[in-house]
Amino acid sequence: MEQEYYSKKIEKIFQFKLNKNQSREIQRLIYEIIKRDSLSLKEIEERIKKELKDKKPQAKDLFRHIKNILINLRFPESSVQTNIDTQQIFLDKIRKPQEITYHPQKEFSPKRIIVEKEVEKSYLVERAKEKYPQINLEIIDYYSLFLKKYKLTPYNLKQPILFIVKERWDFIKPCPCTKAHLSCGYWIFNLGFGCPFDCSYCYLQQYQNFPGIILPSNLEDFFRKFEDFLKKIKRPIRIGTGEFCDSLALDDLTLYSQKLINFFASKPVLFELKTKSKKIENLLKIKPSKNIIISWSLTPQRIIDSEERATSFLQERFNSAKVTQKCGYKIAFHFDPIIYYSGWEEDYKELIDKLYSEVNPPFAWISLGTLRFNRELKSIIERRFPQSKIVYGELFIGKDKKLRYPEFMRIKIYKKMITWIRKFDRKTPIYLCMESDKIWEKTLFKVKNSKEIEDYLIKNNV
Ligand code: SF4
Repeated sequence: MEQEYYSKKIEKIFQFKLNKNQSREIQRLIYEIIKRDSLSLKEIEERIKKELKDKKPQAKDLFRHIKNILINLRFPESSVQTNIDTQQIFLDKIRKPQEITYHPQKEFSPKRIIVEKEVEKSYLVERAKEKYPQINLEIIDYYSLFLKKYKLTPYNLKQPILFIVKERWDFIKPCPCTKAHLSCGYWIFNLGFGCPFDCSYCYLQQYQNFPGIILPSNLEDFFRKFEDFLKKIKRPIRIGTGEFCDSLALDDLTLYSQKLINFFASKPVLFELKTKSKKIENLLKIKPSKNIIISWSLTPQRIIDSEERATSFLQERFNSAKVTQKCGYKIAFHFDPIIYYSGWEEDYKELIDKLYSEVNPPFAWISLGTLRFNRELKSIIERRFPQSKIVYGELFIGKDKKLRYPEFMRIKIYKKMITWIRKFDRKTPIYLCMESDKIWEKTLFKVKNSKEIEDYLIKNNV
């Protein structure tokens, strides 16, 4: 493998032997510097030689010095701003990119539709038959039987297969947020799993244990469960679909939006549909309600092009938001994940300027969240999206064991984003997704706990 050559070359030039772990670390650091900065191995060698010349380390310290030089090259901003804790650097083995990876098309078109027998007569199956008359539905007892025969890898999980099922267990759950950070008290209405879009950073790639998309058709069971749940919680909450799917991406098939809005309009909750799509036609056919929020994830078009395959263009998202707002819905926006790269400031500032030239504040809320992901996802991203460079940002293992930008960088990002937003809009509540109390205090205001965040977002919308 080419990367082994990096460590062999280092051994040869500096005439010492690396052990297995040292070799992996050196390979990883050089590999990432080359991928991100387009430097040649020769240029890296020259940098190492130049710095070693000044330091003149003893042979026993050679590895440590070379590693430090590479760390400074790999994390240039962090090495100037902080003392890097090497324990927080994730230097895993490099794996070859996957040669055959299925990526979905822009317009979702299933090749197979698998239906659980119990919901064979449901409205969703009827709609699927109408929309895709060329496909013979496969009726089975439980979709899990299909999975027993299917060999799933991260590289075939985005297959164009639709499962229409009866959901039996997971109807409503609290958003798991992340360890050692503040949650916002959000609840998930677990309607659907899997997504026709294909974002490089999507955490579903790690958790999805089936190919394709699961769509439940027993909405009446969801609604019944919700009525029971509401009796227990006795307070207003924020709840939405969109955690394990995109809320509107398949709405032309599912009609979920209309059914959900009609149900939730009379409930004491703020119900959100979150999307990267332009599909709002169904929303326009029904009466909006002030507790229904339609929200869009926003990112510069450059990031949509490189990281958010098959999603709607930025301008299409704005156009849909504009029409939805005019129709009387409350709208909201999520800048999440915010990706830090050379030129991010110009792009994100322009994005915010554009937002406020397209739609009128105040909005129900705006969330901000910087790129973060589990370590295991890194190799999936590298293998499914070999062109993506997002994993080569200055990411360190955080308190929740996820890879994140360091605190100084997150504070800088949030402060700038908040200033750009507040230039146009003093009223919309802004919140941070999966952040610590320290970052809240340094960028927005001091919060003691998640309940305060929940109250702040609800109070501003009732
Ligand atoms: S839109 Fe959301 S759920 Fe769909 S692939 Fe992108 S991140 Fe994942």
